[in-house]
Amino acid sequence: MNKIDIREYTQKELQNIMISLGEPKFKAKQIYQWIWQKGVTDFDKMTNLSKELRHKLKETYSFKTMQKQREQRSKDGTIKTAWRLNDGNITESVLIPVPEDNRFTLCVSSQVGCSLNCEFCATGKLKTVRNLLHYEIYEQFININNLCEEEFGHKLTNIVYMGMGEPLLNYNNVMKSIHTITSPLGFGFSYKRITLSTSGIVAGIKKLNQDDFKANIALSLHAAYDNKRNKIMPINKSNSIENVVMALKEMYLKNKNKIGFEYILFKDFNDGFDDADKLVKLSKHFPVKINIISYNYVEGVKLQKASADRVNKFAKYLVDHGVMTTVRRSRGDDIDAACGQLASKSKK
Ligand code: SAH
Ligand code: SF4
Repeated sequence: MNKIDIREYTQKELQNIMISLGEPKFKAKQIYQWIWQKGVTDFDKMTNLSKELRHKLKETYSFKTMQKQREQRSKDGTIKTAWRLNDGNITESVLIPVPEDNRFTLCVSSQVGCSLNCEFCATGKLKTVRNLLHYEIYEQFININNLCEEEFGHKLTNIVYMGMGEPLLNYNNVMKSIHTITSPLGFGFSYKRITLSTSGIVAGIKKLNQDDFKANIALSLHAAYDNKRNKIMPINKSNSIENVVMALKEMYLKNKNKIGFEYILFKDFNDGFDDADKLVKLSKHFPVKINIISYNYVEGVKLQKASADRVNKFAKYLVDHGVMTTVRRSRGDDIDAACGQLASKSKK
């Protein structure tokens, strides 16, 4: 019998299940807390439930957990884990520890593969694409949080939705995962320490605004002019920079979210002072931090990374024009765990 994963049910639905099993309603809350507060995926660990109830639950429900398929460790401490999902697909999570800053970040995936095909990204080149279920996203979080505690004696401090996939194309499941990770009956993680990264889907950002999204958001901008962005990010053809930025402005006006622009500097493509100048103009609509990222090599891509000297000059131009700018050093690139390199080599 193909048992249903119990994590598919809301707390209200769990209550109805308890009633149908002749159990008191409050048991639903206990089960909910075992699942979402403690991350338990084994009915026998739910020690405040009677043996009979655990037995009844096991007869009908299951936990279709993912299995660790491979773990790779970078010399900089970054750990990449590939997960085999219940249907055999693979997804990846990256733990980026910076113990000296007390910062332990999970880079979580929201899809298997990605349909958006950005020129420079390994994930976009994968054939299989499917949305991750909300509990597959949550499970990456809880597993990596456990790993972080084992390795560093510290819980995760930050989560970035910057793994495989476009989170706003898996809107409902991503939002549900944020809910179970942050809600008090769930894990209780602070939404202020969560960043959703998007390639800029206007309809998705507007939906976030309607849903009163309060976490941080990062826009993968990578070019300040539409004609250039169209060349490297096909999604821009239907979601122009202006429309994306206006949707983000609405977000800022509503909830004062922290907004970042991610910008990979490509040699002789988007690294000129005219580009920097346009970027400065785009940064005037709301407070924004620009993150200059170095391009991580992906096989078959013709774009190249800008020189260190260019990066410095470009960043200096932004800073001199009053834009908050950071230059992010790459982490885990020796194990293909850096931004844009997630593509499960093991599966190819
Ligand atoms: N789909 C979302 C989130 C996942 S991609 C998005 O695009 O924002 C996470 C980040 O990695 C994005 O900023 C993306 O532009 C960046 N990225 C993709 N390929 C890269 C590469 N080869 N080198 C550096 N960053 C890359
Ligand atoms: Fe998809 Fe983001 Fe990669 Fe573009 S950069 S292909 S949106 S995962």
